[in-house]
Amino acid sequence: MILRSRVALGLASVVLLLGEPATSQPGTSAVETAAPIALARRSLSPGPGASQSPRNASYRLKATLDEKAHRVIGHGTLTWRNLERKPCDKLVFHLYQNAFKNFASTFVFESGASLRGAEMPEHGYGAIDLSTLRLNGRDVLASAVLDDTLLTLPLATPLGPSAIAEIEFSWSVQLPKVFARSGWADTYHAVTQWFPKIGVWDCSDGEACGWRARQYHGVTEFFADFGVYDVEIDVPRATQVGATGVLVAERLTDDRRIVSYHAEDVHDFAFFADPAFIEIKDSVDDGQGPIQVRLLSRRGQEAHDPRTLSGVRAAIREGAERAGAYPYSNLTVVVPPVAGNGSGGMEYPTLITVFSFPLPAGLHDVEEVAAHEFGHQYFYHLLASDEVEEAWLDEGVNETFSGWVMERMFGRCGAVDLPYLCLSVWDRSWLAYRETLQHAALATPSYRLASSHYGAIVYTHTAVFLHMLEGLIGRERLRQGLLRYGERSRFRHPGRRDFVSAISEGAREDLGWYFSQALDTARVVDYAVSEAKSERFELAAGFYDCPPRPLPDSAGSELLPDSRRLGYRELLTRSQAEACRDKPAGRHELPPKATEVKPALYDSTVVVNRRGDFVMPVRIRAVFADGTGEIAEWSLAQQQALPEQRAHTLNFYRRSARLLYAEVDAGGWLHADLKPVDNSQLVEARPRPVARLWLSFIGAVSTLIDLLGS
Ligand SMILES: [Zn+2]
Repeated sequence: MILRSRVALGLASVVLLLGEPATSQPGTSAVETAAPIALARRSLSPGPGASQSPRNASYRLKATLDEKAHRVIGHGTLTWRNLERKPCDKLVFHLYQNAFKNFASTFVFESGASLRGAEMPEHGYGAIDLSTLRLNGRDVLASAVLDDTLLTLPLATPLGPSAIAEIEFSWSVQLPKVFARSGWADTYHAVTQWFPKIGVWDCSDGEACGWRARQYHGVTEFFADFGVYDVEIDVPRATQVGATGVLVAERLTDDRRIVSYHAEDVHDFAFFADPAFIEIKDSVDDGQGPIQVRLLSRRGQEAHDPRTLSGVRAAIREGAERAGAYPYSNLTVVVPPVAGNGSGGMEYPTLITVFSFPLPAGLHDVEEVAAHEFGHQYFYHLLASDEVEEAWLDEGVNETFSGWVMERMFGRCGAVDLPYLCLSVWDRSWLAYRETLQHAALATPSYRLASSHYGAIVYTHTAVFLHMLEGLIGRERLRQGLLRYGERSRFRHPGRRDFVSAISEGAREDLGWYFSQALDTARVVDYAVSEAKSERFELAAGFYDCPPRPLPDSAGSELLPDSRRLGYRELLTRSQAEACRDKPAGRHELPPKATEVKPALYDSTVVVNRRGDFVMPVRIRAVFADGTGEIAEWSLAQQQALPEQRAHTLNFYRRSARLLYAEVDAGGWLHADLKPVDNSQLVEARPRPVARLWLSFIGAVSTLIDLLGS
């Protein structure tokens, strides 16, 4: 899912009020049968149909769309296998559409009947009702317990390890008016989360086993096991269908179109039906073979179709580089009508939805939505982490991924590129991150986050922290880590441990110190240059005993840091040498007028502070008037050894030029810093940030925020 709090969307909504012309696209008249296509591409599959996932939750479904009543009548069978070593004594199914049954569902109660700025329409309710539930042929409907969006079926005989259960359903779904990812709008039907979907039986938590199946919450998404899906969909003859998987058969009757889709190693199945779809075909080769892209667009979106496809193409290539090749042979991209935008910006296996919106080329949301939703083919689909418990692993990592795609496409101005306004995706994330600092730790399960904070925390905090990590360890090491994660954990349910260990391996260092702060705390990154000064070096006036004696080792030993001690010893040595020059033994005065040193030398001091509690290694740069510079590290080890020593001083003695300015982020990686405005300081009577910060939008914004706020 993508957040709709983009800069451009506010603008877009104004234009959208103008509406969109209705259209219809007649279906083909001849009876067609498409040849079956192996879903997995040859490079990643030893042969057609070879299993890449555990395939323990496979469905054979039939769905008939009643387009007038906006209902789907379903019948089908789930074949489920217990993957764990312990028996399970119940089965739990999601009945997601009950979230829209009334205004008293968990979903509505929690979200306030709105999601991504859209309101749940009155009289647009949805529901799912089972009329048949059989377990291995036995009618068990009466023993199943329904609670909102969860249906629990107690088992008289527990299912042991590797046991297989066959569950037969008949059901009907009343689709809501489009809201929160599903529903109908005129002739358009977004049929998602529409069948009884089994949860995940899991014993990975030590001795305890349990069903990982939660109510459909306001902001949470989904989690399911992989399987093979064979789905027959019956729609009006003139209706076009886009669905998960590949089309393997199509049949036309006088008034109906019956299409069959096959999908391997996926954990969900969605389909979209609309006579107004206009099909555009594209093919992208990522170096591993072609991927067939099918865009189901509509009239009025012609200007955006090439932009959507360019976002998809760039994302496919970025994905191959960052997380390993996309293993499926095809991708379907659905453009909803304006009235159906509530189902846009979503991801399903091998199928994504974008939005209908008219935006000028300088607002890159069109490309970004396509790139973001394609990114979910990794961070949701292949890497099927628990979106409810660890949403940062899909939405957050994916927000970072789409940031990389936008950089790839547009360079620095990845989000917005308008006259006088260049906004990178990272800058935009930082603004949202700053708004929600210290609200909650990133690893908080999303249903425990305030819905108003969910997006900013899960999406943008992750993006800010991963972007900062990339700055710290470098693009290639992070890429290597993500590639390990993407290849090792695909077709599995990876969790935080898998992610952190893969990234650490890629970086060739244990990054536990970083992730424990970024994920488990609401700590703030805030470093500052608190002092930057430069003074002309003069000898020290006063009495000296002559001839001078060698300084004892202890001289200046209590002055820290070492540079200060050495500076002190040099001052003492040179001052007493000058006082004693050509003088007999005894005590002599070095008068103030004799302290000047020629040619001029300067002593400079830089003090940096860690004002936040998030500890980062920093690189400090001091730049002098003669163009020379010094870089010094305030390392992680130094800071961890003395955690309450929150200031770090650098001294530069006897240099031939005065200090011009100092900055604490010479490494350029403190992207999460609370106040970039104080990360540098010019040496002047009245400290002010280095003027060049104004060159960047974020510098300007942060400076404004700080000046207005102080
Ligand atoms: Zn998303």
